[in-house]
Amino acid sequence: MPNIKELTTKIENIITYSENLRVLRLRLPEGSGFSFVPGQFVMVSLPGLADANGRKIAKAYSIASSPSQSGILELCIVSYPAGALSPKVFQKNIGDEVVVTGPYGVFQLKQPVHPGTVFMAGGTGLAPLISMLRSLYAEGYKEKLWLFYSASEPKLFLFREEILGYAKHNNLQLVVSTSNGNSEWVWEKGRVTETFPKHLQQLQQDGVPNEERQFYICGPPLMVTDTVKMLLELGFKKENIHKEQW
Ligand SMILES: Cc1cc2nc3c(=O)[nH]c(=O)nc-3n(C[C@H](O)[C@H](O)[C@H](O)COP(=O)(O)OP(=O)(O)OC[C@H]3O[C@@H](n4cnc5c(N)ncnc54)[C@H](O)[C@@H]3O)c2cc1C
Repeated sequence: MPNIKELTTKIENIITYSENLRVLRLRLPEGSGFSFVPGQFVMVSLPGLADANGRKIAKAYSIASSPSQSGILELCIVSYPAGALSPKVFQKNIGDEVVVTGPYGVFQLKQPVHPGTVFMAGGTGLAPLISMLRSLYAEGYKEKLWLFYSASEPKLFLFREEILGYAKHNNLQLVVSTSNGNSEWVWEKGRVTETFPKHLQQLQQDGVPNEERQFYICGPPLMVTDTVKMLLELGFKKENIHKEQW
Protein backbone atom coordinates (compact mmCIF):
# COMPACT_ATOMS: atom_id res chain seq x y z
CA MET A 1 0.00 0.00 0.00
CA PRO A 2 1.37 3.45 -0.85
CA ASN A 3 2.81 5.63 1.92
CA ILE A 4 2.24 3.14 4.79
CA LYS A 5 5.21 3.29 7.15
CA GLU A 6 6.16 1.60 10.41
CA LEU A 7 8.02 4.05 12.61
CA THR A 8 9.46 4.01 16.11
CA THR A 9 8.53 7.31 17.72
CA LYS A 10 9.40 8.81 21.12
CA ILE A 11 6.90 10.26 23.57
CA GLU A 12 7.69 13.98 23.66
CA ASN A 13 4.83 15.19 25.85
CA ILE A 14 1.88 13.84 27.83
CA ILE A 15 -1.16 15.91 28.78
CA THR A 16 -3.27 14.23 31.45
CA TYR A 17 -6.96 15.18 31.45
CA SER A 18 -8.01 12.47 33.90
CA GLU A 19 -6.93 9.06 35.15
CA ASN A 20 -8.27 7.58 31.91
CA LEU A 21 -7.71 10.26 29.30
CA ARG A 22 -4.41 11.50 27.95
CA VAL A 23 -3.05 13.29 24.93
CA LEU A 24 0.29 11.91 23.78
CA ARG A 25 2.61 13.89 21.59
CA LEU A 26 4.92 11.56 19.64
CA ARG A 27 8.11 12.72 17.93
CA LEU A 28 8.62 11.04 14.54
CA PRO A 29 12.14 10.03 13.53
CA GLU A 30 14.04 12.74 11.61
CA GLY A 31 13.24 12.63 7.88
CA SER A 32 10.63 9.89 8.30
CA GLY A 33 8.62 11.14 5.31
CA PHE A 34 5.40 10.26 7.16
CA SER A 35 2.39 11.99 5.60
CA PHE A 36 -1.35 11.74 6.16
CA VAL A 37 -4.65 13.41 5.41
CA PRO A 38 -6.55 14.94 8.39
CA GLY A 39 -9.06 12.35 9.64
CA GLN A 40 -6.79 9.31 9.23
CA PHE A 41 -5.49 7.03 11.99
CA VAL A 42 -2.38 5.05 12.90
CA MET A 43 -2.02 1.58 14.42
CA VAL A 44 -0.17 1.90 17.73
CA SER A 45 1.94 -0.81 19.38
CA LEU A 46 4.65 -0.93 22.02
CA PRO A 47 8.08 -2.52 21.56
CA GLY A 48 7.94 -6.14 22.79
CA LEU A 49 4.19 -6.11 23.58
CA ALA A 50 2.50 -9.27 22.25
CA ASP A 51 -0.49 -11.45 23.07
CA ALA A 52 -0.38 -15.02 24.47
CA ASN A 53 0.28 -16.33 20.93
CA GLY A 54 3.20 -14.00 20.40
CA ARG A 55 1.26 -11.75 18.01
CA LYS A 56 1.96 -8.03 18.18
CA ILE A 57 -0.83 -6.05 19.90
CA ALA A 58 -1.75 -2.99 17.83
CA LYS A 59 -4.78 -0.69 18.11
CA ALA A 60 -6.10 2.17 15.99
CA TYR A 61 -5.83 5.79 17.17
CA SER A 62 -6.96 8.81 15.16
CA ILE A 63 -4.34 11.47 14.55
CA ALA A 64 -5.26 14.70 16.33
CA SER A 65 -2.34 16.80 15.08
CA SER A 66 -2.37 18.37 11.65
CA PRO A 67 0.02 17.56 8.80
CA SER A 68 1.28 21.14 9.18
CA GLN A 69 2.73 20.23 12.63
CA SER A 70 5.70 18.56 11.02
CA GLY A 71 7.60 15.80 12.84
CA ILE A 72 4.91 15.11 15.45
CA LEU A 73 1.79 13.02 15.91
CA GLU A 74 -0.74 13.76 18.64
CA LEU A 75 -3.10 11.05 19.86
CA CYS A 76 -5.99 11.26 22.38
CA ILE A 77 -6.09 8.00 24.28
CA VAL A 78 -8.71 6.60 26.66
CA SER A 79 -7.42 3.85 28.92
CA TYR A 80 -9.70 0.88 29.65
CA PRO A 81 -8.48 -1.02 32.75
CA ALA A 82 -9.04 -4.41 31.06
CA GLY A 83 -7.57 -3.25 27.76
CA ALA A 84 -4.79 -5.12 25.99
CA LEU A 85 -3.03 -1.95 24.89
CA SER A 86 -4.35 1.30 26.39
CA PRO A 87 -3.31 0.72 30.07
CA LYS A 88 0.17 -0.28 28.84
CA VAL A 89 0.45 2.98 26.92
CA PHE A 90 -0.48 4.82 30.14
CA GLN A 91 2.49 3.18 31.89
CA LYS A 92 4.85 4.88 29.44
CA ASN A 93 6.67 8.12 30.16
CA ILE A 94 8.28 10.95 28.25
CA GLY A 95 11.21 9.57 26.22
CA ASP A 96 9.74 6.05 25.90
CA GLU A 97 9.21 4.44 22.51
CA VAL A 98 5.87 3.90 20.77
CA VAL A 99 5.58 2.20 17.38
CA VAL A 100 3.11 3.61 14.85
CA THR A 101 2.07 2.15 11.50
CA GLY A 102 0.02 4.06 8.97
CA PRO A 103 -1.60 6.20 7.93
CA TYR A 104 -4.87 4.35 7.36
CA GLY A 105 -8.51 5.25 6.86
CA VAL A 106 -10.94 6.72 4.39
CA PHE A 107 -12.42 9.17 6.91
CA GLN A 108 -10.59 12.12 5.41
CA LEU A 109 -11.19 15.83 4.99
CA LYS A 110 -12.43 16.28 1.43
CA GLN A 111 -11.25 19.27 -0.60
CA PRO A 112 -12.54 21.82 -1.26
CA VAL A 113 -14.04 22.33 2.19
CA HIS A 114 -17.48 23.92 1.84
CA PRO A 115 -18.32 27.02 3.88
CA GLY A 116 -20.74 26.06 6.67
CA THR A 117 -19.31 22.55 7.08
CA VAL A 118 -20.36 21.05 10.42
CA PHE A 119 -18.02 19.00 12.62
CA MET A 120 -19.69 16.92 15.36
CA ALA A 121 -17.72 15.09 18.03
CA GLY A 122 -18.38 13.03 21.13
CA GLY A 123 -15.48 12.52 23.56
CA THR A 124 -12.19 11.50 21.92
CA GLY A 125 -14.08 11.55 18.62
CA LEU A 126 -12.76 15.10 18.58
CA ALA A 127 -9.29 13.77 17.59
CA PRO A 128 -9.71 13.43 13.79
CA LEU A 129 -11.90 16.57 13.69
CA ILE A 130 -9.39 18.78 15.51
CA SER A 131 -6.79 17.54 13.02
CA MET A 132 -9.06 18.80 10.22
CA LEU A 133 -9.65 22.17 11.92
CA ARG A 134 -5.97 22.63 12.76
CA SER A 135 -5.01 21.94 9.19
CA LEU A 136 -7.65 24.30 7.76
CA TYR A 137 -6.70 27.16 10.07
CA ALA A 138 -2.99 26.58 9.44
CA GLU A 139 -3.79 27.07 5.73
CA GLY A 140 -5.66 30.30 6.54
CA TYR A 141 -9.22 29.03 6.00
CA LYS A 142 -11.56 31.99 6.61
CA GLU A 143 -15.12 30.74 5.97
CA LYS A 144 -17.59 29.92 8.70
CA LEU A 145 -17.36 26.39 10.13
CA TRP A 146 -19.34 24.77 12.95
CA LEU A 147 -18.16 22.51 15.78
CA PHE A 148 -20.66 20.69 17.99
CA TYR A 149 -18.63 18.92 20.65
CA SER A 150 -19.87 17.02 23.66
CA ALA A 151 -17.54 15.89 26.45
CA SER A 152 -18.88 13.76 29.28
CA GLU A 153 -17.35 16.03 31.95
CA PRO A 154 -16.09 19.64 31.90
CA LYS A 155 -12.50 18.58 32.71
CA LEU A 156 -12.52 16.33 29.62
CA PHE A 157 -12.99 19.28 27.21
CA LEU A 158 -9.97 18.48 25.03
CA PHE A 159 -7.76 21.28 23.65
CA ARG A 160 -10.03 23.76 25.41
CA GLU A 161 -7.99 26.96 25.06
CA GLU A 162 -7.05 26.22 21.46
CA ILE A 163 -10.68 25.58 20.46
CA LEU A 164 -11.91 28.68 22.28
CA GLY A 165 -9.21 30.57 20.34
CA TYR A 166 -10.59 29.27 17.02
CA ALA A 167 -14.06 30.40 18.07
CA LYS A 168 -12.71 33.86 18.87
CA HIS A 169 -10.37 34.40 15.93
CA ASN A 170 -11.17 31.92 13.14
CA ASN A 171 -14.89 32.14 12.37
CA LEU A 172 -15.62 28.83 14.16
CA GLN A 173 -19.18 28.65 15.49
CA LEU A 174 -18.69 26.59 18.61
CA VAL A 175 -21.31 24.67 20.57
CA VAL A 176 -19.68 22.76 23.44
CA SER A 177 -21.74 20.71 25.82
CA THR A 178 -21.49 18.21 28.62
CA SER A 179 -24.01 15.89 30.14
CA ASN A 180 -22.44 16.26 33.60
CA GLY A 181 -21.87 19.99 33.94
CA ASN A 182 -20.89 21.49 37.28
CA SER A 183 -21.45 25.02 38.53
CA GLU A 184 -18.40 26.27 36.59
CA TRP A 185 -19.75 24.98 33.28
CA VAL A 186 -20.80 27.99 31.22
CA TRP A 187 -21.59 26.15 27.99
CA GLU A 188 -24.51 23.89 27.05
CA LYS A 189 -25.94 20.69 28.51
CA GLY A 190 -26.56 17.42 26.69
CA ARG A 191 -25.26 15.43 23.74
CA VAL A 192 -24.86 16.81 20.21
CA THR A 193 -28.25 15.33 19.28
CA GLU A 194 -29.73 17.68 21.89
CA THR A 195 -27.68 20.81 21.13
CA PHE A 196 -27.82 20.64 17.31
CA PRO A 197 -31.62 21.14 16.95
CA LYS A 198 -31.42 24.17 19.25
CA HIS A 199 -28.99 25.85 16.82
CA LEU A 200 -30.60 24.70 13.57
CA GLN A 201 -32.26 28.02 12.80
CA GLN A 202 -29.02 29.91 13.43
CA LEU A 203 -27.14 27.40 11.24
CA GLN A 204 -29.61 27.82 8.40
CA GLN A 205 -29.19 31.59 8.48
CA ASP A 206 -25.81 31.21 6.78
CA GLY A 207 -27.70 30.37 3.59
CA VAL A 208 -26.26 26.91 2.82
CA PRO A 209 -29.12 24.72 1.49
CA ASN A 210 -29.74 21.57 3.56
CA GLU A 211 -28.96 19.36 0.58
CA GLU A 212 -25.47 20.88 0.26
CA ARG A 213 -24.47 21.01 3.95
CA GLN A 214 -21.41 18.83 4.70
CA PHE A 215 -20.93 16.95 8.00
CA TYR A 216 -17.99 15.19 9.63
CA ILE A 217 -19.03 13.12 12.68
CA CYS A 218 -16.89 11.08 15.04
CA GLY A 219 -17.52 9.47 18.43
CA PRO A 220 -18.89 6.35 20.09
CA PRO A 221 -21.10 4.14 17.84
CA LEU A 222 -24.38 5.13 19.55
CA MET A 223 -23.62 8.85 19.29
CA VAL A 224 -22.76 8.52 15.59
CA THR A 225 -25.83 6.39 14.77
CA ASP A 226 -28.20 8.73 16.63
CA THR A 227 -26.63 11.82 15.07
CA VAL A 228 -26.85 10.47 11.51
CA LYS A 229 -30.48 9.43 12.10
CA MET A 230 -31.31 12.93 13.36
CA LEU A 231 -29.61 14.63 10.39
CA LEU A 232 -31.42 12.43 7.84
CA GLU A 233 -34.74 13.15 9.54
CA LEU A 234 -33.97 16.87 9.34
CA GLY A 235 -33.47 16.56 5.58
CA PHE A 236 -29.69 16.56 5.26
CA LYS A 237 -28.19 14.27 2.61
CA LYS A 238 -26.61 10.90 3.39
CA GLU A 239 -23.86 11.44 0.79
CA ASN A 240 -22.74 14.62 2.62
CA ILE A 241 -22.39 12.89 6.00
CA HIS A 242 -18.86 11.56 6.61
CA LYS A 243 -18.39 9.51 9.77
CA GLU A 244 -16.02 7.47 11.92
CA GLN A 245 -16.82 5.60 15.13
CA TRP A 246 -15.18 3.34 17.69
C1 LIG B 1 -10.48 3.97 13.32
C2 LIG B 1 -10.35 3.95 14.83
C3 LIG B 1 -9.86 5.06 15.48
C4 LIG B 1 -9.75 5.06 16.88
N1 LIG B 1 -9.28 6.18 17.48
C5 LIG B 1 -9.21 6.20 18.85
C6 LIG B 1 -8.78 7.39 19.51
O1 LIG B 1 -8.46 8.43 18.90
N2 LIG B 1 -8.72 7.34 20.88
C7 LIG B 1 -9.08 6.22 21.61
O2 LIG B 1 -9.00 6.24 22.85
N3 LIG B 1 -9.49 5.09 20.98
C8 LIG B 1 -9.55 5.05 19.63
N4 LIG B 1 -9.95 3.91 19.01
C9 LIG B 1 -10.20 2.70 19.84
C10 LIG B 1 -8.87 1.93 20.05
O3 LIG B 1 -8.41 1.42 18.80
C11 LIG B 1 -9.00 0.73 21.00
O4 LIG B 1 -10.08 -0.08 20.58
C12 LIG B 1 -9.20 1.12 22.45
O5 LIG B 1 -8.13 1.93 22.89
C13 LIG B 1 -9.26 -0.12 23.35
O6 LIG B 1 -8.12 -0.89 23.17
P1 LIG B 1 -7.49 -1.77 24.34
O7 LIG B 1 -6.52 -2.74 23.72
O8 LIG B 1 -7.00 -0.93 25.43
O9 LIG B 1 -8.77 -2.56 24.90
P2 LIG B 1 -9.33 -3.99 24.44
O10 LIG B 1 -8.38 -5.07 24.84
O11 LIG B 1 -9.69 -3.92 22.98
O12 LIG B 1 -10.67 -4.08 25.27
C14 LIG B 1 -10.67 -4.59 26.60
C15 LIG B 1 -11.87 -4.12 27.36
O13 LIG B 1 -11.84 -2.68 27.47
C16 LIG B 1 -13.15 -2.17 27.41
N5 LIG B 1 -13.32 -1.34 26.21
C17 LIG B 1 -12.57 -1.34 25.08
N6 LIG B 1 -13.01 -0.42 24.19
C18 LIG B 1 -14.08 0.16 24.76
C19 LIG B 1 -14.97 1.18 24.36
N7 LIG B 1 -14.85 1.81 23.18
N8 LIG B 1 -15.95 1.54 25.21
C20 LIG B 1 -16.09 0.96 26.41
N9 LIG B 1 -15.27 -0.03 26.86
C21 LIG B 1 -14.28 -0.42 26.05
C22 LIG B 1 -14.08 -3.36 27.35
O14 LIG B 1 -14.39 -3.74 28.65
C23 LIG B 1 -13.21 -4.41 26.69
O15 LIG B 1 -13.66 -5.70 26.96
C24 LIG B 1 -10.10 3.90 17.62
C25 LIG B 1 -10.58 2.77 16.94
C26 LIG B 1 -10.72 2.80 15.58
C27 LIG B 1 -11.25 1.56 14.89
